[in-house]
Amino acid sequence: MVHSKHGKSDVPEQVPEGVPESVHGGAEAYRQELIRRYLRTCDDVANAAEMHGRKPDDVRIIAVSKFQPAAAIAILADQGHRDFGENYVQEALHKQTELPRPELLWHFMGRLQRNKAKYIPGKFAMFHALDDQMLASGLQKRSEKNAVVLDVLLQVNFGQEEQKGGVSPEELPVLAEKVCLMRGLALRGLMSLPPFAMQLADKQRIFAELRGLRDNLERRLGRRFPELSMGTTDDFPQAIAEGATIVRIGTRIFGRRPA
Ligand SMILES: *Cc1c(COP(=O)(O)O)cnc(C)c1O
Repeated sequence: MVHSKHGKSDVPEQVPEGVPESVHGGAEAYRQELIRRYLRTCDDVANAAEMHGRKPDDVRIIAVSKFQPAAAIAILADQGHRDFGENYVQEALHKQTELPRPELLWHFMGRLQRNKAKYIPGKFAMFHALDDQMLASGLQKRSEKNAVVLDVLLQVNFGQEEQKGGVSPEELPVLAEKVCLMRGLALRGLMSLPPFAMQLADKQRIFAELRGLRDNLERRLGRRFPELSMGTTDDFPQAIAEGATIVRIGTRIFGRRPA
């Protein structure tokens, strides 16, 4: 949010925070700019799909709305967009309360402490960041209690960033087998988030490796794992080239996240 010298906002109060930097014209200008950015992103994703011989419908866009206000989500929901991605439990649940629209599909893609597993099943369409058996057990317990089945993706960490979430490629098959035995969880595929600063060519290699890991898992377990959640604002064309079925795009749609 831009503030003037007097400490007052330059834009009317109803303007959501996280206004793209080019916009200072008020709520309607914000709405139009957000829609323009969203439609441009849809076009670019569809073009990337077609360039690689894939159908635009085969690549689903998740609008990553962390730190963005509920009002911004509402604008895209009015355009017919359904999939939104969040990283923080309290923030996400708060937005769900603010936007009680049953058609919206909320995706959780942040790190999750085990004691917060209870907030996910029944509230989120998909959990993208499963990387640990204890967390899986926590999600499974709550899914059974709520009589739901939670779609999950296993997040793979290729070792470039120790502190980041994700299971190693070596540990992936064992975790996948365990998750497949949990009736409250439906393993739908894999997810990865290469380091922000990595070269695009290296990111593309990681995306190809993720697809290879998925193919191996399918052979090993004799089941289909159709989803590859990979690609963000900076690298979605490379991810789509390597078979992404889900791209998770924040900045390109909403503008820079408010600090
Ligand atoms: C924030 C985030 C994104 C979106 O990143 P952008 O660069 O803003 O598109 C995608 N995936 C995950 C896991 C994230 O945390």
